[in-house]
Amino acid sequence: MVVQTVADTTDSTPSAAGSVDLGPATALSCRECGHRVPLGPVFACEECFGPLEIAYDFSGHDTEELRRSIESGPANIWRYAPLLPVPADVATKPNINPGWTKLVKADNLARELGVTGGLYVKDDSGNPTHSFKDRVVAQAIEAARAFGFTTLSCSSTGNLAGAVGAAAARAGFRSCVFIPHDLEQGKVVMAAVYGGELVGIEGNYDDVNRFCSELIGDPAGEGWGFVNVNLRPYYAEGSKTLAYEICEQLGWRLPDQLVVPIASGSQLTKIDKGLRELIELGLVEDKPYKIFGAQAEGCSPVSTAFKAGHDVVRPQKPDTIAKSLAIGNPADGPYVLDIARRTGGVVEDVNDEQIVDAIKLLARTEGIFAETAGGVTVGVTRKLIEAGVLDPSLTTVVLNTGDGLKTLDAVAGTGLTATIRPSLDSFREAGLA
Ligand SMILES: *Cc1c(COP(=O)(O)O)cnc(C)c1O
Repeated sequence: MVVQTVADTTDSTPSAAGSVDLGPATALSCRECGHRVPLGPVFACEECFGPLEIAYDFSGHDTEELRRSIESGPANIWRYAPLLPVPADVATKPNINPGWTKLVKADNLARELGVTGGLYVKDDSGNPTHSFKDRVVAQAIEAARAFGFTTLSCSSTGNLAGAVGAAAARAGFRSCVFIPHDLEQGKVVMAAVYGGELVGIEGNYDDVNRFCSELIGDPAGEGWGFVNVNLRPYYAEGSKTLAYEICEQLGWRLPDQLVVPIASGSQLTKIDKGLRELIELGLVEDKPYKIFGAQAEGCSPVSTAFKAGHDVVRPQKPDTIAKSLAIGNPADGPYVLDIARRTGGVVEDVNDEQIVDAIKLLARTEGIFAETAGGVTVGVTRKLIEAGVLDPSLTTVVLNTGDGLKTLDAVAGTGLTATIRPSLDSFREAGLA
């Protein structure tokens, strides 16, 4: 579908006027007041400053035809192109093509935790830059192309910087991304190796984000597509593909319980949106599901608000090894609270020691080496089962959103069992025979 953009909503951007083809996306709609504006690189409502999200026209679809088209599509997120803000021919464009990651039936972990209803790990460490962020960047870069941007940027806790660097390299964009200066070496190298510009900011993520907001309003940032700021409505839709894949991989079935990590909260809100869309489109049977949010104790603004029964999220200064989740002032925090309460889930947190234990538990039981964010979701899952909050007799999906090789320091004590001479005697002496 071709939609006309209106010049006055996008005035300082390269393709201010003209038409963009973003498939089934029809407009941007305010999540607070419902005000609609044409598709463009804008993210805040001009009426109430609420966040904008993509509105679609899915009318006239044939459920069985849609299911067939998805099932015969590519083994990446573009199998869902008819449900995303991208042109129909997106699969032919240079893109890192993330998604269709493994849904691992985690029977060993289930036994250890006493889960009988089926426990699955959705392992997004299998994406091209080894985190879930490839999904959101793959969307944003298509929007950037449609709007005529040539430089891609972002504020990042690490994984996003790598995903933007890789996607920009492949699609021929310049990239210049911003991270806190003190991130894990694995994250820094992964972000730098693709050849774009990588800038460390003396401050935490919230400082980086504030800086980027200033840069957008300055001539120095003119013509830049910030994937998680002015392209945020498009970026955010990438997280829906996690919900689509989980249901399709379960045989077009909704799970009963999902455990999702929270940084800004965007991913969790869009997983819920994706599940509701599948119900509306008739691709899965309508039944209740619960979404559980997971944070690190050292950066737990959303779980703190949840436990206190508050609707507003009070910012915190992060201090945790789960740096990819260390957003002290999460933009989507209030929406996460809504979703957890509406679906009957909760938001819980675990401390650094529990995160490390959970990383090792998942590795030892399932052969999956998660980054600290995966330690947070597995740790929270364990805590909620022990507390009797998660129902072990129900189908449960736990997200692992990143790769442990990027956060090696978290498991620094892990290493050699023994060092021996190359002799059988030495092997026996070490007690290994
Ligand atoms: C960014 C990130 C998340 C969650 O991000 P949201 O801002 O909540 O959408 C989860 N896990 C990892 C590893 C991440 O990098």
